[in-house]
Amino acid sequence: MTSAFSLEPTGLELRFRRVTLAAREWLTPSYVRVRLQGDELAGFASLGADDHLRIFFPDGDPQSVEELRAAPSREYTPLAWGEGWLELEFAIHGDPAAGTAGVAAAWAATAPLGALAGVGGPRGSKVLTGRPDAWFLAGDETAVPAMRRFAGAMDADAVGRILVEVTDAAHELAIDAPAGVVVEQVHRDDAPAGAALAARLDALGSDDRPAGAVFGFVAAEQSIVKPGRALLLDRWGLSAEHVIVKGYWKRGETEYHAPH
Ligand SMILES: Cc1cc2nc3c(=O)[nH]c(=O)nc-3n(C[C@H](O)[C@H](O)[C@H](O)COP(=O)(O)OP(=O)(O)OC[C@H]3O[C@@H](n4cnc5c(N)ncnc54)[C@H](O)[C@@H]3O)c2cc1C
Repeated sequence: MTSAFSLEPTGLELRFRRVTLAAREWLTPSYVRVRLQGDELAGFASLGADDHLRIFFPDGDPQSVEELRAAPSREYTPLAWGEGWLELEFAIHGDPAAGTAGVAAAWAATAPLGALAGVGGPRGSKVLTGRPDAWFLAGDETAVPAMRRFAGAMDADAVGRILVEVTDAAHELAIDAPAGVVVEQVHRDDAPAGAALAARLDALGSDDRPAGAVFGFVAAEQSIVKPGRALLLDRWGLSAEHVIVKGYWKRGETEYHAPH
């Protein structure tokens, strides 16, 4: 039987763009949507829902691409874009005022409007072509932009489940999805990031597997990779080609690079 969809690797030419911070909107006390703007965003494209770009946080006003690329940088998912603008969403961790947040979280939370940043990429994408029979998405705040984009790619008759791990009821992040896709907020409360989502994945058995060709996406703190694979590959027997399971950050590690 031919599968109903595939994930096709596609490349884009790597470009670096100078942008400025145009607006920020707090969606919860620890989650902010940021709008960037700049003429150099002309032609910006992101083909895959779990694409990432690299955002650079220079001190001052770098005059060359080399100088811009030397600034600290972190990986983020392009959420939405258009002529001269780009929106990203940042999970804010630590306390930016006390200097315990990372460079990206602190910038997103506190940089003045007009602050300069750089955007590199996205470079490579996995483009979902065709139609999965069912969708299964699970992630923490850092994966919400990717899950929003997958949800945006679903048609009105799509079926599936989206699990979002957040701290508690005051930090829930709604994701717009078709009626046949259940969106469930999983509260971590005082547990370490990823533990509640891992427990939720562990609680799903082979009986919970949707029929047909299922697309599976799991991304959160690195410790989610093992339970994510155990569910999707071992218990549900999904094809590795239909599954994306990634650590988006790693506890205690600055600027973690997820294996691609
Ligand atoms: C493909 C990909 C796409 C991503 N897309 C997004 C996105 O769209 N939005 C988003 O918010 N993040 C996203 N991330 C995660 C983001 O790159 C990391 O969280 C990054 O480490 C944040 O940088 P920072 O400078 O704030 O913290 P860092 O300086 O990198 O880390 C400082 C400390 O904070 C910890 N830390 C990092 N992130 C978190 C967190 N979320 N919660 C708690 N502690 C944390 C680290 O373990 C470290 O101890 C993505 C990651 C990948 C690999």
